[in-house]
Amino acid sequence: MDLYEMPDFDGHEQVVFGYDAATGLRAVIAIHSTALGPAAGGCRMWPYASTEDALTDALRLSRGMSYKNAMAELPLGGGKAVILGDSRRDKTPQLFRAFGRLVDSLGGRYITAEDVGTGTTDMEQVAGVTRHVSGLSRKAGEVGGDPGPQTALGVYLGIKAAATFQLGRGLEGLTVAVQGLGGVGHPLCRLLAGDGALLKVADARAGVAEQIREELGAEVVSAEAIASAPADVFAPCALGAVLNSRSIPALRARVVAGAANNQLAGEQDGYALMRAGILYAPDYVINAGGIINVSHEYRGGASEAQVRAAIGRIPGRLTEIFERARREERPTSVVADQMARERLGRAA
Ligand code: NAD
Repeated sequence: MDLYEMPDFDGHEQVVFGYDAATGLRAVIAIHSTALGPAAGGCRMWPYASTEDALTDALRLSRGMSYKNAMAELPLGGGKAVILGDSRRDKTPQLFRAFGRLVDSLGGRYITAEDVGTGTTDMEQVAGVTRHVSGLSRKAGEVGGDPGPQTALGVYLGIKAAATFQLGRGLEGLTVAVQGLGGVGHPLCRLLAGDGALLKVADARAGVAEQIREELGAEVVSAEAIASAPADVFAPCALGAVLNSRSIPALRARVVAGAANNQLAGEQDGYALMRAGILYAPDYVINAGGIINVSHEYRGGASEAQVRAAIGRIPGRLTEIFERARREERPTSVVADQMARERLGRAA
């Protein structure tokens, strides 16, 4: 495996492989760019089949964080860490302390946080050995903790902006199909229902959608059918790669706007959405509420109101992308990537 020849290598500034014999830690930290500030991005724990798979993921995700942070106008670059292991089996406090020492060895060039397979309690261990960590449990009156509700707020505002742009209307009476009702999907449903949107909901876990039906009067749809359910807006809040050559022709919504990361299976799917006349809110722009929260927590001194104000700039940014995409007749995903690269280029 030649790092510099890998398809996902994109001029990354630094890639660090960590190993700790005592705890069995095997981790990769990829720093894509520090042009705008220290590289920030969560730590994923996943049972990768190979080191090459782990490295590929770290390269891809860290570049994504550069784009996300640049578009959120945060003073942060892009980085990502991956720990090779099964989060249900291999987690120990010692493992996360060893990971924290690896993070600390970078002297603040990389700031970690929770991601898939890691959580607040793991980050508390990391925080025992380095201060370059965010996403910790929140104490009363402080900014921080679970970023899910803040991500949901940004997605809710983004859906409103997309509906206004594409459909020329607000949320009242609009049908939104929400796929995935976890840390983001559930608070998102509450916000949407509060504005009079009609909800269709699905989750892979039994009983979760029924709970939202009880709470908010949502219609329950099977996990298999939610993407193609008749709706004005489809909001993917579960998995990546849900927008692909199979799902796009079956979409009934004219807007796709949700929290999930990496919603497009490939760049071509952005073009397919555009050709189908479906407005796509680029995932890393609309779902930046969480990283905005994390960024304020890390820097300290911000109030909840300041965080909400920063999240309140997401819809304007989306509308700028939508307008430029329409003007240039290009997919919103391509326009967002270009705008992110322009910001990184200017900073560099
Ligand atoms: P979560 O794990 O709390 O919830 C995901 C939910 O999706 C779970 O309830 C799960 O059962 C459900 N699900 C899984 N597969 C499904 C399927 N095929 N159909 C229907 N439901 C399915 O995760 P989350 O924190 O709510 O994040 C949701 C998405 O948003 C993820 O892609 C995540 O990467 C992304 N995201 C989250 C944040 C955040 O602040 N939490 C920030 C940015 C992006």
